[in-house]
Amino acid sequence: MKIPMLDLDKQYETIKEEVYTAFDEVFTSKRFIGGDKINELEDKIADYCGCSEAIGVSSGTDALLISLMALGIGDGDEVITTPFTFFATAGSIYRVGAKPVFVDIDADTYNLNVDLIEEKITDKTKAIMPVHLFGQMCDMEKINEIADKHNLYVIEDAAQAIGSEQNGQRAGSFGDVGCFSFFPSKNLGGAGDGGMVTTNDESLAEKVRILRNHGSKPKYHHKIIGGNFRLDALQAAILLTKLPHLEKWHYGRKKNAEYYDKKLANISKTPFVKSNNRMIYNQYTLLFENRDEMQNKLTEAEIGNAIYYPRPLHLQECFSYLGYGKGDFPVSEHAAEHVLSIPIYGELTKNQQDYIISTIRG
Ligand SMILES: *Cc1c(COP(=O)(O)O)cnc(C)c1O
Repeated sequence: MKIPMLDLDKQYETIKEEVYTAFDEVFTSKRFIGGDKINELEDKIADYCGCSEAIGVSSGTDALLISLMALGIGDGDEVITTPFTFFATAGSIYRVGAKPVFVDIDADTYNLNVDLIEEKITDKTKAIMPVHLFGQMCDMEKINEIADKHNLYVIEDAAQAIGSEQNGQRAGSFGDVGCFSFFPSKNLGGAGDGGMVTTNDESLAEKVRILRNHGSKPKYHHKIIGGNFRLDALQAAILLTKLPHLEKWHYGRKKNAEYYDKKLANISKTPFVKSNNRMIYNQYTLLFENRDEMQNKLTEAEIGNAIYYPRPLHLQECFSYLGYGKGDFPVSEHAAEHVLSIPIYGELTKNQQDYIISTIRG
């Protein structure tokens, strides 16, 4: 039985009509840049995340980049983050001229180990960039406490965590800014690239809005330098058709995760979800001593699988100038060598799940 890592076919069938209608609306209005669809999506995402402001941008990566720019972080500054994440997290820090400073992760959740943050703070540290990996939030109470004490900004990389909660509060509403991605494999995925910045700070939101349009305000007058970081109206229109389904899709993933948890707990480390967290299962990630063997077995059985992430960022060639080496972040390194993610999308059938489970157990 062939099972892809992500199958968007069934999802598309359920929203096809709405997507066509939305496309037609954009073409008829001919507002391809800016316009009502962007404004409506921004209002709805702000609401969904429990924030007063949301600004649509060109990708999750650009959400991180423009947030750093808007906060004035650049040359000589340091930003604390995790080495066990997608490249964009640290890549964006580098691109504004700042230095990524890594802190190891917690072995249970794969998120930043908050007990190791303070020892990395120097007089150059300007921000902490926690990543809510796989759809579970970092310990934001502790991170905000540290940030307050040392007068640091908090930039949440919530690319994998739209709708995740901690003590009933949504991801993207804890930090100075939250950064979201609409990459097709995220729980709310577009038909291409897209992203969103959330904040409760009105003047910061205004700055992001100006920066996303070359720093232009009023038009053709530039006090600051930005870029083209705009979200397309067509993407916004598609995302608006998908947003009303998001909670149902989260629920489908959760149900599948519960079934896997039950059937795989005694053979692998299944995702550990803290009791005060709502996890949206952007990924369902297992841990195996014999990971590579297990991966081969799944691949041979035509079951989609993926390693997020096989090489921690402190060991990437492009970051060798930072001077880190093997052994510096043992928990991240162990995770990189042993994690394996399996299909979790809500449309998976029981039959498919049973096949995946028996292949892993067999
Ligand atoms: C997907 C992702 C990003 C980047 O988002 P894009 O929209 O692909 O640019 C950043 N950080 C994390 C943790 C991600 O998973």
